Amino acid sequence: MQVPAQFEYQRATGVDHAVALLSRHGAEARVVAGGHSLIPMMKLRLAQPEVLVDINGLHELTGIRVESSRENGRWLRIGAMTRHAELLESELAGEHFEVLHEAERVIADPLVRNRGTVGGSVCQADPSEDLSAVFTALRAIAVIRGGDGDRTVPMREFFVGPYQTAVGPAEVLVELRVPVRPGCGSAHLKVDRRAGDWAVASVACTVWLDGDDVAEVGIGLTAVGAPNFSAPEAEDHLRGRPATSEAIVEAGRIAAAHCRPVADQRGPADYKLHLASELTVRALHRAVDRARG
Ligand SMILES: Cc1cc2nc3c(=O)[nH]c(=O)nc-3n(C[C@H](O)[C@H](O)[C@H](O)COP(=O)(O)OP(=O)(O)OC[C@H]3O[C@@H](n4cnc5c(N)ncnc54)[C@H](O)[C@@H]3O)c2cc1C
Repeated sequence: MQVPAQFEYQRATGVDHAVALLSRHGAEARVVAGGHSLIPMMKLRLAQPEVLVDINGLHELTGIRVESSRENGRWLRIGAMTRHAELLESELAGEHFEVLHEAERVIADPLVRNRGTVGGSVCQADPSEDLSAVFTALRAIAVIRGGDGDRTVPMREFFVGPYQTAVGPAEVLVELRVPVRPGCGSAHLKVDRRAGDWAVASVACTVWLDGDDVAEVGIGLTAVGAPNFSAPEAEDHLRGRPATSEAIVEAGRIAAAHCRPVADQRGPADYKLHLASELTVRALHRAVDRARG
């Protein structure tokens, strides 16, 4: 039986308390959210934190809501401790961004979805993780709390490498904010070997149309070696053009051309490249159809 190395357990009573505990214990401390990635890593001794700071039960980190203000516009705000199951059940989230429900339906199984969190998923930054690509495609912004207060980081700067994010050792991800703008459609497609498995490849797309033209677009790719889950060159190709089939097929080709998948038990590299292109094309078509209403 695999058991973790010995560690001290601290239960945070608020976000600032969590930040203070992390600051006090330095690089040896880790936040635990749903524990579905961290605890298995501790059992395998791939992670050996000396202190676990438990952020379960912090109401400041929960909730899904839309907020509007004249200065800042409209945002869907999703607390970091939102469980996968809560996001899947949120009518508000699905009404604004179909991609959130489509992705959550195929992430793991109900046991994992009941416990695993949105914040834990993106902070884990596992290259096979679905939500990281989704929030990249949604052009979300991460709100991160540290000793000096809150700072915001666009998702494209949030992921700094496999299993590495912009969240510092004494910081806590508070929420993800997604801009709510008119003319938007989104979609997520995943190929997996069996229901509930990690992706062989998955793609999330969001399109904002202005008439026939693509005003803005987000493309996120999982498990295919897309740098930081994103495909900026393919987005650049689409932005400002009419959303034609030709433009979408070319965007799929460009997205795959920038991926560097590795062969593993889920499939050979050339199959993953094929999926990167094909899923991008199909998800873009679906997102455009939805944006057209
Ligand atoms: C059997 C199984 C199948 C799965 N299948 C899939 C799948 O198909 N697709 C998919 O996308 N995912 C899958 N997952 C992963 C799942 O989505 C987990 O929920 C996710 O990896 C981690 O979320 P968590 O809340 O459990 O995080 P934890 O394990 O608690 O934490 C993960 C990391 O994030 C850090 N962290 C957590 N929250 C914060 C925060 N608010 N601020 C700062 N740091 C934080 C922790 O310190 C740790 O380093 C699967 C997991 C399992 C166990």
